[in-house]
Amino acid sequence: MKLHKELLVLRENENKLTSEILDKLQLMEKYRAYLKLGYSSLFDYLVRGLNYSESMAYQRQSCLRLSGELPEIKEKLDNGQLTHSNISLAYKLIKDQTVEKKREVLKTIENKSFREAKKILAPVAPPVKIKKLVYQDKVVLKMELTHSEHEKLNKLKALGAHRYDLESLFMKLVDKELKQYEKVDYKPSLSNNPRYISVKLRNSLLKKANYKCQHLGCQETYFLQIDHIQAVKSGGRADPGNLQVLCSGHNRDKG
Ligand SMILES: [Zn+2]
Repeated sequence: MKLHKELLVLRENENKLTSEILDKLQLMEKYRAYLKLGYSSLFDYLVRGLNYSESMAYQRQSCLRLSGELPEIKEKLDNGQLTHSNISLAYKLIKDQTVEKKREVLKTIENKSFREAKKILAPVAPPVKIKKLVYQDKVVLKMELTHSEHEKLNKLKALGAHRYDLESLFMKLVDKELKQYEKVDYKPSLSNNPRYISVKLRNSLLKKANYKCQHLGCQETYFLQIDHIQAVKSGGRADPGNLQVLCSGHNRDKG
């Protein structure tokens, strides 16, 4: 059908335009040419000069910033493996990470819908935002909780923790948690289950790993998991010598 053929040609060109636009925007930014045109920033130029909506301008800007370090994303935008919206979603989370980490994260959202990408990227974000202000002899922590997290906190207070104000409740929980980590005197377990890792063993492994992923070069401190170096299905045991700490990403990579 003629109409279909025309649309196919247009669609192909539509894709090609993405990287062409990014290339030209890169030049615009490199020479700050937008200043000569009277725009205060690249963002301002994208919105007022090129009539992008603010959210589209933000997405273009994120892609531009990332494509400086990872030029391959232009091609991926062209062939549809990555989208502007998925890239800008990831950008907020990875902009301060290493190039390798950025590449690794973007790989996970290739060929994914925005919804899927949101789900995949959720664990990358730190779970609780805490703002820190330092006074002379005190530290003020400001905590942002979701409504459901706040409900849980209220439930705990209602169940008896109302004896404490928020500060002492928080410190009680911190002390309790710290005590867990201090129980690190490992004794060989009597369990024959090679998958069973006692709390004490887990804590001693975490302490030995300095609470970081032990994959070479990885500094991840969130989502740490205990990995059997030799897999259980290949006869690996739950001995300290056969166990290591990996972040969920590196554990998944290992398969
Ligand atoms: Zn890791």
